[in-house]
Amino acid sequence: MKKDFYEILGVAKSSSQDEIKKAYRKVAMQYHPDRNPGDKAAEEKFKEAAEAYEVLSDADKRAQYDRFGHQAFSQGGRSSSHPGGMNMDDIFSQFGDIFGSDSPFGSFFGGGSSRTSSSRGRGTRGSNLRVKLKLNFEEIAKGASKTIKVKKYVGCTTCSGSGAKDKNSISTCGSCGGSGQVRRVQNTFLGQMQTVTTCPTCNGEGSTVTSKCGACKGEGRVYGEETVSIDIPAGVQEGMQLSVTGKGNAGERGGSNGDLIVLIEEEQHAQLHRDGLNVAFDLHINFPDAVFGMQVEVPTIDGRAKIKIPPGTQSGKIFRLKGKGFPSVNSYEKGDQLIQVNVWTPQNVSAEEKAQLEKMQQSVNFAPKPEKNDKSFFDKVREMFN
Ligand SMILES: [Zn+2]
Ligand SMILES: [Zn+2]
Repeated sequence: MKKDFYEILGVAKSSSQDEIKKAYRKVAMQYHPDRNPGDKAAEEKFKEAAEAYEVLSDADKRAQYDRFGHQAFSQGGRSSSHPGGMNMDDIFSQFGDIFGSDSPFGSFFGGGSSRTSSSRGRGTRGSNLRVKLKLNFEEIAKGASKTIKVKKYVGCTTCSGSGAKDKNSISTCGSCGGSGQVRRVQNTFLGQMQTVTTCPTCNGEGSTVTSKCGACKGEGRVYGEETVSIDIPAGVQEGMQLSVTGKGNAGERGGSNGDLIVLIEEEQHAQLHRDGLNVAFDLHINFPDAVFGMQVEVPTIDGRAKIKIPPGTQSGKIFRLKGKGFPSVNSYEKGDQLIQVNVWTPQNVSAEEKAQLEKMQQSVNFAPKPEKNDKSFFDKVREMFN
């Protein structure tokens, strides 16, 4: 015959959720395996209490239990009150809710699930490294494979990163017996409690080096250089960061490597300017060319391109070379090249040229006749670029 859940926790049938919680804390503390090592009876009581609490802390389950007793959970499906239905992990994961992860109870019980997955591991992780990488427009437009030499900590080849002179100079840590964790007994208002902490002797590694590797002085890494190849996707921009996993500083004593963070810098182009995905070029032509029209070659990211300037082209006119801009780094979008025409005004003229120009000044053909247009300058720009 199963014991009554209320009896197990030592509470009345009419007790509140709060009283049940308090009662369970008390019983759980009393029979906790850490405080009763090797005591099978205590472990049984500990499990019983957890099972009782699981039912009584849930309003629905409690109501069913009150009506049908243990029968309520004895048939069909997985039941928490089946014998052995709750394992230790279930019980420990319950503690987070009851005691809170930052209460002293949390650490007393090893912090729930972290109790089973210890943080034990070898060495410490290496730090991330940052390098700058300058790319020209062509490299940005097409993407590039770059090999760079990076000064950094690299794994010690003499000891394969272990930091030990040889196999025999690594021994299990005496303080924690290799678990990487130590238990400390503390006196608190609730009596003696144990806390589980990282072993200070081995820093949680579980082993210690008795004789250090001479090449790295036990660190498992040495300062050196590594050639790293980096694939730069097309379309990156000034200020972007690419992360190359595991290419940062080597960790200590076999710890994992940090990452290499590559900061992209754009090399200025002599004639082209970048504006997002678009490329801008200022074309200067003389006045007769603007009048007669012409064919002209302009620089692009990808070699030179010919464009046609029609007769009567005004200064400020913008021509577009579709798809001649930068690709987007995260879509199939591509920018354009925009060419703005600037009609060059001569700054020095000869006496003969002066006479010709004075004659032109009189002609009605030379008087400005701007097109009637209600649109503002900015509207026109927006229309053009979008
Ligand atoms: Zn070494
Ligand atoms: Zn240790």
